[in-house]
Amino acid sequence: MAKWQQQRSFWTWGYRSDEPSEADRRNMARVISERFGRAVTPPPIPKLADIQLRTSRVEVPDGLTGWVSADHGERVLHTHGGHVLELLAALRGEFPNPPDAVAHPRTDEELEATLAWCDAGNYVAIPYGGATSVVGGVGVPEECSAAVTIDMDHFHRVLEIDDVSRAARIQAGVLGPDLEDTLRGRGLTLRHFPQSFPWSTVGGWVATRSGGHYATNHTHIDDFVENIRMLSPVGWWTSRRLPGSGAGPSPDRMVMGSEGILGIITECWLRLQKRPIYRATAGVVFDDWARAAEATRQVVQAKLWPANLRLLDPVEAAASGGLNGEQALLIIGFESADIPQDVFIREAVAIARDAGGEIDEDAIRVDDGSGKATGREGAVGAWRQSFIGVNAGLTNGLGLLADTFETAITWDRWLEFDAHVRERVGVVLEEVMGKGARLSCRFTHVYPDGPAPYYSFNGPAAIGSEAEQWQTIKAAATDAVIEAGGTVTHHHAVGRMHRSGYERQRPAPFAEALRAMKKSLDPNGILNPGVLIDP
Ligand SMILES: Cc1cc2nc3c(=O)[nH]c(=O)nc-3n(C[C@H](O)[C@H](O)[C@H](O)COP(=O)(O)OP(=O)(O)OC[C@H]3O[C@@H](n4cnc5c(N)ncnc54)[C@H](O)[C@@H]3O)c2cc1C
Repeated sequence: MAKWQQQRSFWTWGYRSDEPSEADRRNMARVISERFGRAVTPPPIPKLADIQLRTSRVEVPDGLTGWVSADHGERVLHTHGGHVLELLAALRGEFPNPPDAVAHPRTDEELEATLAWCDAGNYVAIPYGGATSVVGGVGVPEECSAAVTIDMDHFHRVLEIDDVSRAARIQAGVLGPDLEDTLRGRGLTLRHFPQSFPWSTVGGWVATRSGGHYATNHTHIDDFVENIRMLSPVGWWTSRRLPGSGAGPSPDRMVMGSEGILGIITECWLRLQKRPIYRATAGVVFDDWARAAEATRQVVQAKLWPANLRLLDPVEAAASGGLNGEQALLIIGFESADIPQDVFIREAVAIARDAGGEIDEDAIRVDDGSGKATGREGAVGAWRQSFIGVNAGLTNGLGLLADTFETAITWDRWLEFDAHVRERVGVVLEEVMGKGARLSCRFTHVYPDGPAPYYSFNGPAAIGSEAEQWQTIKAAATDAVIEAGGTVTHHHAVGRMHRSGYERQRPAPFAEALRAMKKSLDPNGILNPGVLIDP
């Protein structure tokens, strides 16, 4: 196993160094106890060695033991992804469904041998990147004779950088920070920063069509893919590296978002950019949520392409921007490698002001390329700290149930959509969690034709019945989003948790075509059964 994997926490999505301290957990328990008016104490963290696992159901052949093992610690670490329920089970020492073995192939040949072994034995094969999936993408299906997790951590190199075309050939197991460290020396960046950036991989991003934190323009991994190399049980799939092509349906688009059901991505060429040096930010405050959304629409339709155009509703603006709980906050940010951004931020702020927003002149912050910004940080700085400081597992097991759901909808339906989702989910939240529940919304991405709203909910957990609580709320959220015409996921992927919504939104003939494609690439159906399509 690669070094970074050895440092991972088995009960949060991050590294052991990201785990909250006992003091942090006690403090958070106090905050939650006060909020819900009932005492909670942090449960003990189980010891790795004490975790009981089912006996492995596979015998690793001699030829594969150099990179495949049924080691206890490996199986524990590879049991779950990053969803709250998975992490809660891990914290309680519950690992009922671990993989039977874990492979860390180091070469194409070792990967081929691993997949051939799984195919011959009819073992489920689970492609595995950083395990930050929040939709059950790396879990073992309940019904299978055996499962082998294929961890791509040794495919961790940037193989080539083409400075002329500005692109790099990158292996699937490269982690976000390692990639950026390599590119920094050449003055380049992928400029793709999902919030899980420190722990997730290039292969995981492509497999799930991840969304970076920039709100407009090039922000999805889809925007950067020039080609993909993938191994499926029937052989290699390598697309031609091109800046664009009109030659029929795109092979890359078939792989992007395939979530490991068609093959294992080993590398891809991704488009790069120069590192930005000019920056400008502003936080515009609105007394009215609808007017704030209207301002957002006008800014994005002005085609100024801000890097950030993140609208926080009053609940979120209070929690992460320090506002009064009645005002919405529109965070506008621009950046460029080549052009000062002063003029763009002022144009965007003028549009937002005309639409009813308020901002002091000295709260427009501009960096002219010198690295020294002028202007106050204010609410935008507070929001940035809370965004970067996402804390792995801090509230886990402390009697608070929290999750998110994200979607997208066109502007003409936005207000009605939001009202429907809040009403439908709000009723169920109160039924399940009582008056202490909270529902909030922000736009993570904004398109000229519509926003991508990201809803968060939290409230008192019924300790021991969190899974049932979550299922009731999640079902209501999925129904609300699908009924009102949205998508079941904007960037968290489908996995197993969003499959019911995905089945309701995709055209039936498309589902048949997807099944046929899986059958032709993976005739025995060993790759990630239950993800995206019903096995
Ligand atoms: C705190 C947190 C914040 C997050 N923020 C964001 C965000 O801002 N934007 C966003 O889009 N997502 C976000 N996510 C979700 C998650 O990080 C993304 O889905 C990410 O792309 C997964 O990458 P990974 O390397 O961790 O993949 P994994 O979790 O290991 O795998 C995800 C899926 O891809 C498959 N897969 C992985 N590697 C390969 C491969 N080489 N070949 C084929 N299939 C493969 C797996 O089988 C699985 O189905 C967040 C998750 C967490 C926990």
